[in-house]
Amino acid sequence: MKKHNYSAGPCILPQEVFEKSAQAILNFNNSDLSILEISHRSKDFVAVMDEARALVLELLGLEGKGYQALFLAGGASLEFLMVPYNLMKTDGKAAYLDTGTWASNAIKEAKHFGETLIVGSSKEQNYNHIPKGYSIPEDASYFHCTSNNTIFGTQMKSFPTTNVPVVCDMSSDIFSRTLDFSKFDLIYAGAQKNMGPAGATLVVVKEEILGKSGSYIPSMLDYEKHIKAESMYNTPPVFPIYASLLTLQWLKNLGGIAAIEKINEAKANLLYTEIDRNPLFKGTAAVEDRSIMNATFLLNDENHAPIFDKMWKEAGISGLPGHRSVGGYRASMYNALPLESVQVLVDVMQSLEKNL
Ligand SMILES: *Cc1c(COP(=O)(O)O)cnc(C)c1O
Repeated sequence: MKKHNYSAGPCILPQEVFEKSAQAILNFNNSDLSILEISHRSKDFVAVMDEARALVLELLGLEGKGYQALFLAGGASLEFLMVPYNLMKTDGKAAYLDTGTWASNAIKEAKHFGETLIVGSSKEQNYNHIPKGYSIPEDASYFHCTSNNTIFGTQMKSFPTTNVPVVCDMSSDIFSRTLDFSKFDLIYAGAQKNMGPAGATLVVVKEEILGKSGSYIPSMLDYEKHIKAESMYNTPPVFPIYASLLTLQWLKNLGGIAAIEKINEAKANLLYTEIDRNPLFKGTAAVEDRSIMNATFLLNDENHAPIFDKMWKEAGISGLPGHRSVGGYRASMYNALPLESVQVLVDVMQSLEKNL
């Protein structure tokens, strides 16, 4: 039987995406060729790329607003340096919000391009909340934030209003909740958390912010070159992009982001209610900043871990341990995880309480 997959990434995708992907590996679009062996310049794949790029903008409500969607390689981690390469002005500075491991990895890269100003940080409290009340200097080249902190289970519920370009790493909550995406000038996300298999990275960028860095950008790292080449500057990750398109189509058929948001909220409510009610468990993230994607929690008594671990494994749950830097548990409830899987976890938590 299919596992209840709580993996933080790569992660669960809709079953129909697995089935259609498998079919395309055997025979893509009745071409008698596999998606794995066709040219990325073939008519069939160019159509996939075009539809995927257009669907991203449609789902985010960014059509006709000056944005371009790109499917690149290198993961979200490569964006940590592509962002400053493209946006940091010569002798400029950039403002960063330090909300976790990924945010601090982004800061580490940006430091090599100019002054990196950390406008807010929750590092001293092991990133258990989102810093608030920070301000962004008017002369910053851009402001960078991480909408959802995959490892620590916190999520930004609001975003600052500022005149400087806003860049957001949305790797682990893109397409999961409605936001005014036009408030962002550059959004990036590794595919493998909510959109597809590992290997593709989505970048959505407002074209008007580009071309202002004043220094040479290596071609493969230059957003403008990728835009000009319609996201085919070099061979793109064909299969991950195809599987991502299938996930985007699944989401559209479901009713788009507004529809999935309701389901995601129901899943998160179900689990957090149990974490708060059950005397054996406690949540680790500040309640007002809790992520609806990644719920992090602990057993109050570590001695209960062996039996709890045995119980959830027997219930068909997979991928529940917390990140190696945090410990405890992390339930990643990405778009494709059904509500029923969350009910199974909640049932296990309640059985543990009854059986002790
Ligand atoms: C997983 C993750 C990353 C790293 O993604 P890669 O594609 O592995 O480079 C970056 N940021 C966030 C928020 C993540 O969750």
